[in-house]
Amino acid sequence: MDARILDGRALAAELRDGLTARTAALAGKGVAPHLRVVMVGEDESSLAYVRGMTSLGAKIGVAVAVDALSPACGTATLRAHLAALESDDGVHGIILQQPLPRHLSIRDVADAVPVGKDVDGTNPINAGRLAFATGTRFVPATPAAVMLLLERSRAWPLRGKDVVIVGRSSVVGLPVALLVLAEHATITIVHSATRDVAARAREADVLIVAIGRPRAVDATWIKDGATVIDVGTTVVDGTLRGDVDFASACRVAGEITPVPGGVGPVTNVALMRNVVTAAEAAAAPAAVA
Ligand code: NAP
Repeated sequence: MDARILDGRALAAELRDGLTARTAALAGKGVAPHLRVVMVGEDESSLAYVRGMTSLGAKIGVAVAVDALSPACGTATLRAHLAALESDDGVHGIILQQPLPRHLSIRDVADAVPVGKDVDGTNPINAGRLAFATGTRFVPATPAAVMLLLERSRAWPLRGKDVVIVGRSSVVGLPVALLVLAEHATITIVHSATRDVAARAREADVLIVAIGRPRAVDATWIKDGATVIDVGTTVVDGTLRGDVDFASACRVAGEITPVPGGVGPVTNVALMRNVVTAAEAAAAPAAVA
């Protein structure tokens, strides 16, 4: 079988057009959506991410600026910096870039990200609201991207489908599980302590993999005709690799996201979509309160 490709670049381009129309409407009201990236120190992959977001923002009409705090910045200083952005009317969305330096813990600062500007769903209040399925304005970008790709897959609607999620992290596996469950799928979450992961994966109509182990998943994990979403991104010898062995999986899967060109490009647009939503809310607070 030759799997159909779920093309993240094409979907991202389509979503960009919709966002450009929304930012044009905001410009007509004198509002320019603004994303503030808060970084502690200068991690090379974070800088690359910021360059990508700045370039995407320029295409769709979202300004992106970076607050680069000292690498020695402590918990109290970082919390105060995040809290101060709440009252800055020129900032609509805030992301706290991770990983943080070793002396800082996301658990100690996540609740300082202002809830109404928390465009990547970092604050535990927004993470909790996600459990109510439609209860948050800001679905975190990567889980949102997985759902956007699934919406365009043959597996949609998910009602009654068996979905297996490999990985249970708080940034990918867990929120994806909540979103998929809200679509009335039956979910199984597997992780490093699960017995016979491959056998469970083979039960899946939809297999979502987010483990950070390049090419760990091959055809033997996949049911004939299944939809496979590969969230993994690991750089190996300068090349971006997914968690799924693409060539092997394509022989069995019905459809599959490539890496690169799958979840990644949609993730960036999903984040920008949250920034635009936040700017719209700021422009019309009474309408969306
Ligand atoms: P993480 O926090 O390291 O979590 C990995 C999860 O996978 C854990 O739950 C772990 O189990 C599980 N796991 C590891 N090896 C396994 C195995 N052999 N079998 C079953 N489960 C296994 O990673 P993450 O932040 O979720 O990220 C996962 C991948 O997605 C990474 O490659 C990351 O770079 C990528 N990512 C991509 C995007 C994007 O936009 N495309 C965004 C975010 C992350 P335990 O919990 O038992 O340890």
